[in-house]
Amino acid sequence: MSSAVAENLDISLRLGVRVEDFVAHDNGVTVSAHGRGGVWHEHGDAVIAADGLWSVMRTRMGYREPPRFAGRTAWRALVPAEQAPPNLRAPLIHLWLGREAHIVHYPVKGGALINIVVIINDGWNAPGWSAPAQRDELLPRLSVERVAPAVLGLINQPKTWLKWALFDRRPLLNWSQARWR
Ligand SMILES: Cc1cc2nc3c(=O)[nH]c(=O)nc-3n(C[C@H](O)[C@H](O)[C@H](O)COP(=O)(O)OP(=O)(O)OC[C@H]3O[C@@H](n4cnc5c(N)ncnc54)[C@H](O)[C@@H]3O)c2cc1C
Repeated sequence: MSSAVAENLDISLRLGVRVEDFVAHDNGVTVSAHGRGGVWHEHGDAVIAADGLWSVMRTRMGYREPPRFAGRTAWRALVPAEQAPPNLRAPLIHLWLGREAHIVHYPVKGGALINIVVIINDGWNAPGWSAPAQRDELLPRLSVERVAPAVLGLINQPKTWLKWALFDRRPLLNWSQARWR
């Protein structure tokens, strides 16, 4: 990707700057950003807001509704593959669906580790995506008697987890705004 960008003289890539605002005018659009070098302005024909869930640009474009907490948290941990039952080590994405939770796990690092993600109903909604968490907080939040024993064995392995609260947004009715003349 970066080599494709380097080959195209019409593209200049600026890292380490935070876009803060933009203004549309008769000659296109000017974006203002802030970085180590101070404030920077860039002129272009159009602006594409791809700054993620907490998008500043989306708000600036007039969509002021903040992300909504989905009432769920995601917990993730890595387990050495040799500690997992052999049938759960296959190079596949394993998905276990339940009424109150779902669990996804798959091998990573060439099969040496298994990445586990557990999504549960939860009220914890702090921002960020890697808060430290403990197995002892996770297990009481699951109806363990309804979890397949092999998966429960897997979830029981890691003591420390990382967790993040899930947020979403209502879909936009319009994905573009033109400056009509
Ligand atoms: C731990 C974790 C694991 C995940 N695993 C999966 C998975 O396995 N499969 C899957 O489909 N999804 C996964 N997701 C979800 C996936 O990461 C998101 O859905 C996806 O990244 C959203 O893409 P995006 O381009 O909208 O935003 P982002 O990926 O968040 O990209 C936004 C970019 O904009 C930049 N930015 C933000 N504000 C500004 C600003 N003001 N100025 C300039 N730049 C700015 C950010 O630095 C970032 O680089 C995972 C998420 C997490 C947190």
